[in-house]
Amino acid sequence: MINNNPQMKRNILLIACLVFLTVNFVNCQTGSPWFSVKEVSPRIWIIGDHGADNMYLVEGTDSALLIDAGLGVADLASQVKKLTSKPLIVVNTHGHSDHAGSNYQFAKVYVHPADSAAARACNSPEARANSSKNMQGGNAPAEAELFKGKPFNTKLVPVREGHLFRLGGRTLKVIETPGHTPGEIILLDIENKLLFTGDNNNVLVWLFLQNCKPLHEYLATLQKEAAMILQFTTIYPGHGTPLPADFVNDQIACVKGILNNTLERKPYKSFAGNSLVSVSGRASVAFNPDNL
Ligand SMILES: [Zn+2]
Repeated sequence: MINNNPQMKRNILLIACLVFLTVNFVNCQTGSPWFSVKEVSPRIWIIGDHGADNMYLVEGTDSALLIDAGLGVADLASQVKKLTSKPLIVVNTHGHSDHAGSNYQFAKVYVHPADSAAARACNSPEARANSSKNMQGGNAPAEAELFKGKPFNTKLVPVREGHLFRLGGRTLKVIETPGHTPGEIILLDIENKLLFTGDNNNVLVWLFLQNCKPLHEYLATLQKEAAMILQFTTIYPGHGTPLPADFVNDQIACVKGILNNTLERKPYKSFAGNSLVSVSGRASVAFNPDNL
């Protein structure tokens, strides 16, 4: 039945306008479609890099810390400004192209000295395009989505074990975790017992790349992490969804099983090369049998 009541028509039009405005407001608040944004804990956001990796923005009362900088193919600096007005500090968990790719958008970035050369190398336009192509399954981003801002001559500031980022009511401590890269670091939110782990605690960790440390050194890193397991409840990885703290124990079992040769080894293929992979519990490790 068609309703010809003019008042009813006006109400329907008004509701349609409100829905349209609300949807657009939400889209504006969440920023560029390249990024997805979710507040996972009060004043902590996961910024998804079009499915390729996770960045984290952690805000204190005085300043905010951006943990990792993604692929660098979209306007991350503007996205962050939509979420926080606090002075921003940027840190890379390591120098790989999907974690340090947007460094050129910031004046200063903290990175471990063992990874600073890698972080610098992945910031050329060619390197960014290449890494984006690899991480997006062969689909480079559309030209319209590429960052158009003026790049900084970014200063890389060395950061080491024990460094404290004091954000006001929230302190993040740097812990050196060599393995996936020589200069990989993780960050412990001391007050909130949260651990931001880059590529050190993914469900599948890559230990087969050319500059990875030998597997027994990665085991020592995991054991160091397990020794502080009462200091954190949740792991926020560089790829995938958050994990409980005891995931580290599965990773230790996996690496020990590889070193003792008690786990099945299967072929593993990726854009970054071929290797072997073993699984234990929730954890998988792809490794080079010549670098144990
Ligand atoms: Zn990595």
